[in-house]
Amino acid sequence: MLTQAPKGTRDITPEQSHLWHYMEDAMRAACAAAGYREARTPVFEHTELFLRGIGDTTDVVQKEMYTFTDKGGRSVTLKPEGTAGVVRMLVEHKLFAEALPAKMYYVSCPNFRYEKPQNGRLREFHQFGVEAFGAPQATVDAEQIALAWDLLTGLGLTGLSLHVNSIGCPVCRPVFHERLQAFLVERLDKLCDTCQERFTRNPMRILDCKSPDCQAQLVGAPRVLDCLCPDCRAHMQTLQETLTRIAIPFELDPGIVRGLDYYTKTVFEIIAQMPGGSLTVCGGGRYDGLTEALGGPALPGVGFGMGMERVLMLLDAQGKAPPLPPQVQVYVCTQGDAARDAALPLAQNLRRAGVAADCDHMGRSLKAQFKHADKCGARLVLVLGEAELLAETVTLRDMRTRQETQVPLPALTEAVLACLAQGGLTPVN
Ligand code: ATP
Ligand code: MG
Repeated sequence: MLTQAPKGTRDITPEQSHLWHYMEDAMRAACAAAGYREARTPVFEHTELFLRGIGDTTDVVQKEMYTFTDKGGRSVTLKPEGTAGVVRMLVEHKLFAEALPAKMYYVSCPNFRYEKPQNGRLREFHQFGVEAFGAPQATVDAEQIALAWDLLTGLGLTGLSLHVNSIGCPVCRPVFHERLQAFLVERLDKLCDTCQERFTRNPMRILDCKSPDCQAQLVGAPRVLDCLCPDCRAHMQTLQETLTRIAIPFELDPGIVRGLDYYTKTVFEIIAQMPGGSLTVCGGGRYDGLTEALGGPALPGVGFGMGMERVLMLLDAQGKAPPLPPQVQVYVCTQGDAARDAALPLAQNLRRAGVAADCDHMGRSLKAQFKHADKCGARLVLVLGEAELLAETVTLRDMRTRQETQVPLPALTEAVLACLAQGGLTPVN
C-alpha cells in the first residue's frame, strides 16, 4: 500500500510531464488568443458552495464528493468541478464590477470525485475550463465552443463530434418537465431507482442516465427543444447561426443535458469515438442563474470543462502525442580529477547562457559518461581531458554526426550557442 498511489489517482512521471506541458501550452495559447485570462482557486472550498452551486440532485453531490471536517470543525470539500470556485472568486473580489464580460480560464486544475475508477474515470483528474460572466448573448457560447473545438482539432485529434442542445430556462423548463413526466409516468416502474427518484425532483436528469434500460424507455420522449420559450428559442437560433458563421460543425442532440443543476439554455459536449466506445472530452453550457444562487448579483455566465486525462488518452490512441524531448542540449564529459572539477562550472556557465546542460556527478568513466549523454538526448557533448586542460580548449562533439571540433575555452559559450542555433556542428537533413 505504501508504494501504491491511491485508487483512481495517477502519477505524472518525468517521462510524461512534457505531454502535460504540451497540452497546457496549447490551452493557454487558445485562451490568450480569445482574451481569457487565468484564474486559480483553492483546491478545497466550503462544502456549502458545492451543495448550492452544483445542486443536491446531482450524482456529484449525492455520491461523489470528497467532504471532510477539518480540525476547526468546518465542513470542506475538495473541488469536484471548477465553476463554483470561480463564481465564488468573482463575487468575493467583485470582478463583476470590472469590464464585462469577465473572461477567465483554469488549466490542469485538480478535481476530485469519488467515482468507480474505470476507463477514462479517475478520482483525481484535471480540467481545463473557461468561464465568461456578464454577457447573455449566444455569441459568447459560440466563442467558447469554437475555442474548445479548434483546440482539440488543432492538437491533431480526429473522430470528434460536437453535440449541442438547449435545456431552456426557469420559464420553459417546467413545461418540458410536465410533458416528460406525462410521457414517463407509465414507464416509471421500468426506470432505475435513481431515475425513479429523479422523476419528481428533476425529471430532465433522466435523459442523462447511463443505464441502457432507462435509455430504452426514453425512445420517443418529448424534446426540450420543442418546449423552448421565445427567448430561449431565439438564443438557440443565434447560437446555431454563429457556429455556422465561424465554421464549427455541430449536430443538434436533444439527449444532451448536463449533470449539473445550474445550467440554462445552451448545453454542449464534444464526444470522441474510441475503439472501446465514445468518450466525452468536453462538456459545458450556460448557467445564467448560478452567480445569484451563490449570493452574487444576477449575472449570466457560460463555460465548459475539459477532462485533460481524456485529451491525453485521445492523443495517445491517435498517435498525436509529441515524442519525449531531450533532457538536455549539452552534456559535459570529463576525464581526470582536474577536469572533473571544471565540469560543473562549465555546465553552469552554459545554464546561465540559457543552454540546458548537465555533467557527470557520479565519477563515471568517460565511456559511461558518453552513454549517459546519449540517454539524456544531448545534441552536443563537450569533452574536457588532460590534453584539453593544458591547451585550454574543449572538444565539441556532435552526437548525431559524430563530427568534432576544438574550441578555445573563452569562446566556448558562444560556440555552443552558434552550434545549437544551426542544429549541430553541421545540420543533418
Ligand atoms: P459523466 O456524465 O461522464 O459523469 P460529468 O457530467 O460528470 O460526466 P462534467 O462534470 O461535465 O462531467 O466534467 C467535465 C469533463 O471532465 C468531462 O467531460 C470529462 O472529460 C471530465 N471528467 C468528468 N469526470 C471525470 C472523471 N471522474 N475522471 C476523468 N475525467 C472526468
Ligand atoms: Mg460524472
